[in-house]
Amino acid sequence: MNLDGTLSDEESIIKESLEEYCRKNVVPAYEGWIRERKFPRKLLKDLSQLIFGATVLPKGEGGLNEVTLGLLSETMGRYEVPVSAFLTMHFAKMLPLISDENTRKSYLDRYLSGELVLCGAFTEPGFGSDSASITTSAVPENKEFVINGEKAFVSSPGIADAHIISVRTSNVPDEKKHKGISLMIVEGGEQGVEPYEDENMASLFQGDFGRVRLNNVRIPSGNLIGGENEGFAILMNILGIQRVHVGLYAIGLAMGALEEAIEYARTRKVFGDYISKYEAISFRIAEDWSKLQSARMMAFKALAMSDSGIDNGAESSAVKGFGCEASFEAVSHALQTLGAAGYVKTSALERKFRASRGFLIGDGTPEVQKLIIARKLFGKNFAP
Ligand SMILES: Cc1cc2nc3c(=O)[nH]c(=O)nc-3n(C[C@H](O)[C@H](O)[C@H](O)COP(=O)(O)OP(=O)(O)OC[C@H]3O[C@@H](n4cnc5c(N)ncnc54)[C@H](O)[C@@H]3O)c2cc1C
Repeated sequence: MNLDGTLSDEESIIKESLEEYCRKNVVPAYEGWIRERKFPRKLLKDLSQLIFGATVLPKGEGGLNEVTLGLLSETMGRYEVPVSAFLTMHFAKMLPLISDENTRKSYLDRYLSGELVLCGAFTEPGFGSDSASITTSAVPENKEFVINGEKAFVSSPGIADAHIISVRTSNVPDEKKHKGISLMIVEGGEQGVEPYEDENMASLFQGDFGRVRLNNVRIPSGNLIGGENEGFAILMNILGIQRVHVGLYAIGLAMGALEEAIEYARTRKVFGDYISKYEAISFRIAEDWSKLQSARMMAFKALAMSDSGIDNGAESSAVKGFGCEASFEAVSHALQTLGAAGYVKTSALERKFRASRGFLIGDGTPEVQKLIIARKLFGKNFAP
């Protein structure tokens, strides 16, 4: 992607093929999916052929750089590809780090053939933002780990075939608590894995949000992702870049909402004139468009930095915080532009309003993003 927003031939083809797929297969099917409340498995199969290799294969064999992946994330948001599929694609980046070779190959094969929904279960009832303080434990026993604990407010626990979880494998002094954390992959059907649902404001499918209890769950030690006690650094790395993709998903979602509001404002007449002629309406949309454009450019800059191996922690947080706030504001204003017609359950804007609100919490709140940025700007000893 160039600074003027133009794409290379390869980027255009990849983006356009996903757009075409979504126009033909996601947009017309959406209402039916929601009515049934059942996550569409067929979608996963199709995405596996179209784009799933992008996050796990080597570059040149189907693997894509972060900037091109960003175009896909934005497109997924624009067409509301269900979050369970979007997150599966990004959590899959952890599959190549599974320590046992056969286990690794088996999960990668299932993912690449569209038979694996993944969820990432890191939040606990007592710890969300403070993710290094988790208490779910994994104790080694022979060649297994025995896991006990509970994860909360997770996306897709009732849909997922496998859960990537953070666990405490070592008790270390409080200031080094992040050093005792490991990541593991756990089969959804494993004995003692007990997901249950918490419907959230934006829940669309059965099981797409909730908790998972881990009750004496035994998994082979080869299910470790990375080394023992090395999980926190891996998680921060992956979630760091994932924040930008979540930001782009939210920006894509909001751009779609703005398009709908613009179309409506050009056709709706009130007090004898099109409402787009009233500055209160069109200037508000102009401002939202400007904010979304800035967040979008910042997102692609953060992704380009990642592709060049440059530290982008502050930029990623800025995209997640500012981008998701801009998204929610734009969607809310778009709904307002439609008046009551935007407020009814049959309106896509009502659905987007609830979804964009969730992005202000999931994957880290704007407050925590500001903390990260402040630490970068002031230095850890002078920041909150
Ligand atoms: C839609 C959605 C999807 C989610 N998906 C997942 C998922 O897939 N996997 C998963 O593991 N979790 C998921 N979560 C959980 C999410 O990651 C946590 O909710 C989030 O990290 C915040 O944690 P918390 O809710 O415990 O809030 P807390 O950490 O208790 O924070 C409470 C409030 O205090 C603020 N705050 C905290 N610390 C500071 C500080 N130092 N300075 C200023 N303000 C502060 C927060 O911003 C927040 O407003 C999801 C949540 C939502 C809403």
